[in-house]
Amino acid sequence: MPSLIRIFADMKKFRIGYGYDVHRLEEGRDLWIGGIKICSDKGEVAHSDGDILLHALCDGLLGALALGDIGTHFPDTSDEFKGIDSKKLLSKCVDMVEERGYGIGNVDIMLRLERPKIKPHVNAMRQTIAPLLHCDIGDVSIKATTCEAMGFVGHGDGVDASAVVLLEVKE
Ligand SMILES: [Zn+2]
Repeated sequence: MPSLIRIFADMKKFRIGYGYDVHRLEEGRDLWIGGIKICSDKGEVAHSDGDILLHALCDGLLGALALGDIGTHFPDTSDEFKGIDSKKLLSKCVDMVEERGYGIGNVDIMLRLERPKIKPHVNAMRQTIAPLLHCDIGDVSIKATTCEAMGFVGHGDGVDASAVVLLEVKE
């Protein structure tokens, strides 16, 4: 049985993770992005609240720990996660990171959505996410683009997001 110090010495100083998520958009549904409800005629079709950006981020954190994907941990067949606020899922993923002796260095998230415009909401999203990650707002980057009317995003049928995260051993 190795000692705790030995386990710590064997830990990598940094771990990188990549996450991705995609949801269909339908009229009459709520549009949750980055922990915020955005006024829109269409929203995500999902088992949870459908927060695409937080799902990509969760997926990245789990990936950095090689713990599988978000569906493995929060299955869409479980009543426990029906309609759940994705901020709770994110906090569970952050717990998994911290239980393993890591903290979140920084995250970079890319969102693709045709409309509505996301830029006016980006700072509110960063302010919502940073405390959940136990990070400074300067460590949370959120970018958004349209797809210039091309493909499922461009036609307004869906939204997707990807996230890159860096974990570092807590001093
Ligand atoms: Zn999702």
